[in-house]
Amino acid sequence: MLLRWYSKSALRTKLRRSVPSSNPGTVHPAVAARTRFAPSPTGFLHLGSLRTALYNYLLAKNTGGQFLLRLEDTDQKRLVEGAEENIYRSLKWCGIEVDEGPQQGGPYGPYRQSDRTSIYQRYAEELIQLGHAYRCSCSQERLLFLRDSAAALKPPTTVTYDRKCLHNPSETGDIIRFKSPSVYEPFDDLLHGHLNLQQQYNSDDRRYDDFVILKSDGLPTYHFANVVDDHLMRITHVIRGEEWLPSTPKHIALYRAFGWEPPQFTHIPLLTSMADKKLSKRSGDIGIFSYKERGILPEALINFVALLGWSPPRDTPGVSVDETMNLSQLVEKFSLNHLTKGNVKVNESKLIFFNKQHLQQRISTDCDSVAAEYFPVFDAATGHKFDITYLKKILVALGPSLQSLNEITTNHAYLFTDDDIDFTKGTPTFKKIVQRFLELWASPFAESTTKICEEFNVKKKDVFQSLRNALAGGAPGLTIPVLVEVLGDDTAVKRLKKYVNA
Ligand code: GLU
Repeated sequence: MLLRWYSKSALRTKLRRSVPSSNPGTVHPAVAARTRFAPSPTGFLHLGSLRTALYNYLLAKNTGGQFLLRLEDTDQKRLVEGAEENIYRSLKWCGIEVDEGPQQGGPYGPYRQSDRTSIYQRYAEELIQLGHAYRCSCSQERLLFLRDSAAALKPPTTVTYDRKCLHNPSETGDIIRFKSPSVYEPFDDLLHGHLNLQQQYNSDDRRYDDFVILKSDGLPTYHFANVVDDHLMRITHVIRGEEWLPSTPKHIALYRAFGWEPPQFTHIPLLTSMADKKLSKRSGDIGIFSYKERGILPEALINFVALLGWSPPRDTPGVSVDETMNLSQLVEKFSLNHLTKGNVKVNESKLIFFNKQHLQQRISTDCDSVAAEYFPVFDAATGHKFDITYLKKILVALGPSLQSLNEITTNHAYLFTDDDIDFTKGTPTFKKIVQRFLELWASPFAESTTKICEEFNVKKKDVFQSLRNALAGGAPGLTIPVLVEVLGDDTAVKRLKKYVNA
């Protein structure tokens, strides 16, 4: 299918309309894939970039290959303080281990583009020698004029440069442009199939897509550094967001100009809100650690993110598959053959569902690690000093009912403080019940309950409710014996007395 580049959104719409809804076929590699995650440290890692990292990681690990992290930090103006650190920490928290990267090193380093400037300069020179690039000395004013005059052309053109410096070579030009082919090579995207993406030209005023590869500050542009590095780092497969699709013909043209074999490309669909809008802060465009603050486990987040554009194959047709998976199960099941097309809606209720599943699992198998990891979060949230053993007790007691860890502080704040308990809540009989319960404190719970029911002619639920009011401000979640057990005798008795005397 031939697509011309009017605008990114038009390209996207055309792509949606014209591609079949199924995958081009069996595209999952049978050999070890070398993949990379190549973020620009211009912001914190969010859902979309985590998904890109995860898919690249899963592909590498599923095929027995390597996963690289490369920092694309050549646009110095856009760098954000702390972003690099945030990328490392987020990946680590999610369990995505990097084989080669700025922190790990590796045979094809350095892995930070700002440390590779001389490499790009060398390759840009090589491209000039090969006749595929040239220096440009056009002034800013001239380039602006070209841009404005191109925008006014009818029919429109998507490119602006007029090749003045190609025809009048300048030894002094401080930027280097790629001499782009007039027809870009069509390519096969592993998800979208055969794509023929071409620029739009105006034949009366011919302009060229001779994009800059080396800027006046001596630093490479994204396109150039990306291609040189993917080649030198021996990347076999590139999985990246669909927003990079218009760049791919340029990249392939660069590979060809050098005489290099391009990697295989897979462009994954955009993430949208449930209302099919661009992700906003509220619908998921937030830093990964905000999920931790919300009491989400990394394995739940990974499970959720993995399914934003991929689904595990069904073993038996018609029988639904268990979608709750940890990272190693994801590695085992992941395949490029089962990626999905079309925008992916981020449905947070699924995240909560997975969190509940993974919480139960983690608490029953490794409660200590959850407590250790989330203790600082609770400590900060409650502002009340308590110890980690207490948190473990709470996790075991509440674990099966929890959807997210922060429910402990939002729905069960009474476990940390009695500040919010209304000790006057209930009828005068409730007070008497609690008073009597205290008198019978040494007896087994069932026995005292039965006795109180007989003595006061009340139902069991009245006994439970009065005790729940005194111990937990009426909050549901734990049975009375468990509540007493978690709070401990001292606190429980103190609260019961407070209730009687209020
Ligand atoms: N640095 C680009 C980004 O920030 C990398 C895109 C690619 O994977 O080629 O997403």
